[in-house]
Amino acid sequence: MGRVEPEVLEAIEEGLEKAYRGLVRAFRSKRALEVPKVAYEPRRYQYNSSVILDFLRRSFAPEGDKVLAITHVDLFVPRLNFVFGQAECPGRFAIISTCRLRPEFYGNPPDEALFLERCVKEAVHEIGHTLGLRHCSNRRCVMAFSNSIWDTDFKSAELCEACLRELTRYLRVHGKPLP
Ligand SMILES: [Zn+2]
Ligand SMILES: [Zn+2]
Repeated sequence: MGRVEPEVLEAIEEGLEKAYRGLVRAFRSKRALEVPKVAYEPRRYQYNSSVILDFLRRSFAPEGDKVLAITHVDLFVPRLNFVFGQAECPGRFAIISTCRLRPEFYGNPPDEALFLERCVKEAVHEIGHTLGLRHCSNRRCVMAFSNSIWDTDFKSAELCEACLRELTRYLRVHGKPLP
């Protein structure tokens, strides 16, 4: 959604399948979406991610695969300065923003590997929510809440044992065989 490099999509596809140990199949949609203008909040120069999730719900058929939108614009939800992403928990739709994942955003030199690693962590995290996973108190677990980029860098791109067990339970009820 908006401007996202193919390298980001590639890294996320790979990272999702790795983190979910092949239990999840990731594939790229051929659909490129515009960032919905109604989500823009001019007083904050940011986009309301709840409004974007609504837009996604209206743009896709009611049933089907989970949808992770990836965008370059900065996201917020009311009462928070910003969010790295947002998702239905559990549910079907999720979004992440690459805006605050670039080292340049914090005045640091560009670092493509670090940037892609952060993109993967946020994607695995939000897809985790769609799979019913809540925030984890293990700060190394990818399901730990990121309040800042330091939290994101501190956590791994992987689910802890407890979250993996939770995921297995969810998939036993809601999962379907992979094609
Ligand atoms: Zn979260
Ligand atoms: Zn965990």
